[in-house]
Amino acid sequence: MIVLDRVGKRYPGGVVAVDDVSLTVGRGELVAIVGPSGSGKSTMLNLIGTLDRPTSGTVTIDGYAVARLADRELSALRATRIGFVFQQFHLAPGVPIVDNVADGLLYVGVPRSERRRRAEAALVRVGLAHRLGHRPHELSGGERQRVAVARAVVGEPAVLLADEPTGNLDSAAGAGVLDLLHELHRAGTTVVVITHDREIADRLPRQVRMRDGRIQADTLLSGVS
Ligand code: ADP
Repeated sequence: MIVLDRVGKRYPGGVVAVDDVSLTVGRGELVAIVGPSGSGKSTMLNLIGTLDRPTSGTVTIDGYAVARLADRELSALRATRIGFVFQQFHLAPGVPIVDNVADGLLYVGVPRSERRRRAEAALVRVGLAHRLGHRPHELSGGERQRVAVARAVVGEPAVLLADEPTGNLDSAAGAGVLDLLHELHRAGTTVVVITHDREIADRLPRQVRMRDGRIQADTLLSGVS
């Protein structure tokens, strides 16, 4: 599903943020990319999410070689095959959550009534059936992040990328969001979680540990599913 082959990312000025990284994530895996601040996690997120191109090596997402795609094709790949969840939720304020989620389908070419129907189904799936007409400010942080997850998966992306998804939540709400990611994983979604938090990473079945732009360890944890 995700293949990074000897990928490097050097920023102007010479900082090597990702250094010769090879990584394969199979369909349906749930993986943590974990490491301290500055280890290259955000850069990895940008590369896997096709928000940025590598300066060396190749990135392949769902069979598409990123280097071969023009920017417009890359935007289409991103819109249809990758779902993003961010620490700050990034929901449209003042807009009912069902419309926030339906907007996740704007670029997939789904008619309006169908967008709404699927948005409702996604919100039911994340446990927010009773909140469809609410606006983001009327919800708790944990609920807002559930909305963000619903928006990210409503288009049934090949990959769900979550960047510090529990970073703004208290531990109970964070655990709830992690449970939700586990549920999506059990239902077959490929999920990559970027985190600096080892406790979060310890709850996921595979851990890719970054340090100074390199993969320091890639571990399957037994007993975690
Ligand atoms: P993390 O997400 O683990 O904190 P980053 O991927 O943000 O790590 O950063 C890795 C390294 O790349 C750091 O040394 C950081 O300062 C540098 N870096 C990140 N983004 C840029 C940029 N746009 N320009 C220059 N250097 C950058």
